[in-house]
Amino acid sequence: MSPADEKFYLGRVTKRVDFAPDLWSLRIQPGGEFHFTPGQYATLGVQAGEKLRERPYSIASSPYESELEFYYELVPNGKVTPDLYKLQAGDQLTMRRIAKGRFTLDMAGPVTNHLLVSTVTGVAPFVSFVRTLHKDWKEGKFDGAHKLFLLNGASRSWEFGYLDELQKFAREAPWLKYVPTVSRPWEDEKWQGETGRVDDLLRKYTDLWGLNGKNSLGYLCGHPGMIETGKGILQRIGFHRESLKEEVYWVPSKAQNIHPFLPATGN
Ligand SMILES: Cc1cc2nc3c(=O)[nH]c(=O)nc-3n(C[C@H](O)[C@H](O)[C@H](O)COP(=O)(O)OP(=O)(O)OC[C@H]3O[C@@H](n4cnc5c(N)ncnc54)[C@H](O)[C@@H]3O)c2cc1C
Repeated sequence: MSPADEKFYLGRVTKRVDFAPDLWSLRIQPGGEFHFTPGQYATLGVQAGEKLRERPYSIASSPYESELEFYYELVPNGKVTPDLYKLQAGDQLTMRRIAKGRFTLDMAGPVTNHLLVSTVTGVAPFVSFVRTLHKDWKEGKFDGAHKLFLLNGASRSWEFGYLDELQKFAREAPWLKYVPTVSRPWEDEKWQGETGRVDDLLRKYTDLWGLNGKNSLGYLCGHPGMIETGKGILQRIGFHRESLKEEVYWVPSKAQNIHPFLPATGN
């Protein structure tokens, strides 16, 4: 890849935040106009010798922001994340000029409840939804008729990169409910919030919030095991295939255990 290549931008890291030893976010100045809809992903690349290695990453920032933000998990034996992990403010990486993906919020149809379910970094597209709607709401461009119900799972609370921000939005915005849940509370004694895996909590919260296949759309993002189980549970309570969207972050190899939050996979 040469920086002059018309398919790519050379993005520059402007900020890095570490949440846990294997979880961090980067803000990136794309170096040119980059259009996207909340929920879409960018294709980021790192140079490995002569080879450019690329992976898709959901955009956590809102299109209203001038920089792009991403939330990463390190996969220790992965081809790309160990190099992304080395990046600090000032460093560069490639970025395809075109955003992709259909994991966007469907506000055009008659259904106004949106159940958002994520594991760890899978919260990124939902952060983009919320940041965008919050700004629109503040400016009177969104009347709050669409409601977001966000269930966010992690093994331990320090894996919630956006906990404070989302809790703050949820306190302020009547159209947002946010429930972070920790699946390994015994490793996180200070955590006082919800416990259990997100998929195990789906029945409880759909009941509590009155969400069903007729009045809601479901969006599942992140861990393949959670998505598989979560889809099954939602289908059993009446969600049709057409009312479910999914963004599967990786395909487990045969040797991997795909059950969420078990040590064989990390998460
Ligand atoms: C649309 C889309 C959006 C994505 N958005 C994000 C995002 O916002 N943040 C993010 O961190 N990742 C995201 N991913 C995953 C990302 O694209 C890479 O797959 C991931 O970062 C691993 O890349 P790698 O090259 O280091 O590992 P690879 O060399 O690609 O993978 C090595 C092995 O690890 C497995 N693996 C990959 N990821 C994980 C994981 N998280 N846990 C356990 N095993 C894994 C693979 O199946 C493979 O067996 C997204 C994926 C898709 C398809």
